Amino acid sequence: MAASVAVHPGRFRALKTGSGPAEGGPVVYWMFRDQRVRDNWALIHAVDQANRANVPVAVAFNLFDQFLGARARQLGFMLRGLKQLQRDIEETLKIPFFLFQGEAEDTIPNFLKECGASLLVTDFTPLRQIRKCKEVICSRVSDRVSIHEVDAHNVVPIWVASDKLEYSAKTIRGKITKLLPQYLIDFPILQPPDKKWDGSSRLIDWDSLIAQVISKGADVPELDWCIPGESAALELLKGKENGFLTKRLKNYSSDRNNPLKPRALSGLSPYLHFGQISAQRCALEAKRVRQLYSQAVDTFLEELIVRRELADNYCFYQPHYDSLKGAWEWARKSLLEHANDEREHVYTREQLEKAQTADPLWNASQLEMVHYGKMHGFMRMYWAKKILEWTKGPEEALEICIYLNDKYEVDGRDPNGYVGCMWSICGVHDQGWKERPVFGKIRYMNYAGCKRKFDVDGYVSYVKRLVSEMKKRKAEASLDKKPMKESRS
Ligand code: FAD
Repeated sequence: MAASVAVHPGRFRALKTGSGPAEGGPVVYWMFRDQRVRDNWALIHAVDQANRANVPVAVAFNLFDQFLGARARQLGFMLRGLKQLQRDIEETLKIPFFLFQGEAEDTIPNFLKECGASLLVTDFTPLRQIRKCKEVICSRVSDRVSIHEVDAHNVVPIWVASDKLEYSAKTIRGKITKLLPQYLIDFPILQPPDKKWDGSSRLIDWDSLIAQVISKGADVPELDWCIPGESAALELLKGKENGFLTKRLKNYSSDRNNPLKPRALSGLSPYLHFGQISAQRCALEAKRVRQLYSQAVDTFLEELIVRRELADNYCFYQPHYDSLKGAWEWARKSLLEHANDEREHVYTREQLEKAQTADPLWNASQLEMVHYGKMHGFMRMYWAKKILEWTKGPEEALEICIYLNDKYEVDGRDPNGYVGCMWSICGVHDQGWKERPVFGKIRYMNYAGCKRKFDVDGYVSYVKRLVSEMKKRKAEASLDKKPMKESRS
C-alpha cells in the first residue's frame, strides 16, 4: 500500500458536502487549470482521498466548444500538452485520463453518474465562467457526491492569503510572505493509487482532434518556438542548455525591462497559464540558486508569487475584473472626467489589430504579439496605455485591449492578463499620478520615455526580423506539412 500524503487543509475547500457514504464510488479529478502530472496539489489530493476510501481515481478533462475565444495558438499548445499528460499519467501513475467535449456542466455530472463517483476534486481558477460552471455542477450531481476545490495554482491558496480584495502589491506582500514557510514546501512524490480503476479508459484520437481544432482556429496559428508540455516547461526552467535558472537568471533584474533582451525573462508564462508547470516548483528551484543571484531571485519571486497571486486575488474578489466597474473609485472618476478629452489620434479596433498607427514602436509591439505570440512584458504596458490614449474612451480601450490580448497572446485569457489591462488602463493596484488629458490620474507612458530606457529603433528592427522569420517558417511548414514539435519525456 502506497503511503498517502494529505495536502495542507488550507489548500482545499469543500464546495459541496455529499450526504452519502464516502466509500464505494471512485474519485474523479476534473482537471481544468493545472494541466500537469508532477507537482499538482489537486491530483495529490484526489489520490490521497481515493486511497483513504480505498477507491480508484480517474482524471477527466473537458474541452469546451468555445472558451474565451481560444484559437489554434492556445488550443494547439494546450491539447499537445494534454496528449503528453495522458501518456504520462497512464504510464507512470496508472490513472486513466478521460477527455470530454462540450459543456462541462453536462459532461462532468454525466461522467460522475456513469462511474458512480463519490468525490469530485477540481482545481481552482478565479475566472467567472468556470466558477459558474462549478455552481451548476454542484446543483446537478447526486446528493451523495462531495466536491472539493484545490488551489493548485497559487503557492499560498488564494482564500488563505487574504479574505478580501487587496489594494496593491504592498498590502498583499506581507500576508503572502508570512505564509510561505507553511506553503512553499517540497511536493511529495506521487505513487500510483492503491486501488486500480477497473473500467477501461476511452481511446482518444488526439491527432484528428488537434487537426480539427487547429483548422477551426486557424486565424491565429500555432507557434513553433514554444514546445508544449511538462518536460519542455521544466527544460525551460532549469535545462542545462537554455534553462532560465541555469543560464539566464543572472541578468533578470537588470535586463527584464529591456524589450531587446527577451531572453532575460523566464518565458514561463505559457506553461504557468496552462498549468504545465507549477509556480511552486519554479519558486522552489529559484530558491535553490538564491545564494548565487540573490537580487535576481528576489525579483523573480516578486513577479512569480506576489504579482501573480495578486492578480488571482483581484479576479477572485472583484466580480468586475475585466470592466471599468472594477476600477478603484478615484480612477473611474478621473477616467470618466477625461473620457471626452480630445485625442491626437483615434483608431478603430481594426486599425489597431492591423498595427496601422502612426507610432512604429507601438506597431512593432502589436506585430510581436500577432506573429510571435508573446509580447515582451515591458511593451505590454506601453501597448495597453497607448490604446487608452487612442480610442474613444476608457471602456472601449479596455475592451479592445482584452480582446487583442486574449486573441493573440499564447498566455492570454489569464488573470494576469485581465489585471495587466486593468493596471494599464484603469490604474488597478497602482496609485494616482499627476493629472493630464485623456489619462486623468492614470499613470502615463510615452515614446520619449521608452527612448530613454532602451534602443527603440533596435526593437523595431528586431521585431521586423522576427516577423519575417516567423512568416518564412510558417510558409515552409505549410509546404512541408511539418508536424508541430511535441516533446517526448
Ligand atoms: P517573467 O518576468 O519571467 O515572469 C515570471 C512569471 O511571473 C510570469 O510568467 C507571470 O506568471 C508572473 N508575472 C510576471 N509579471 C507579472 C505581472 N506584471 N503581473 C502578474 N504576474 C506577472 N501575463 C500573463 O501571464 N498573461 C497575460 O495575458 C498577460 N497579459 C498582460 C497584459 C498587459 C497589458 C500587461 C501590462 C501585463 C500582462 N501580463 C500577462 C503580465 C506580464 O507581462 C507577463 O506575465 C510576462 O510578460 C510573461 O513573460 P515571462 O513569463 O517571460 O515573465
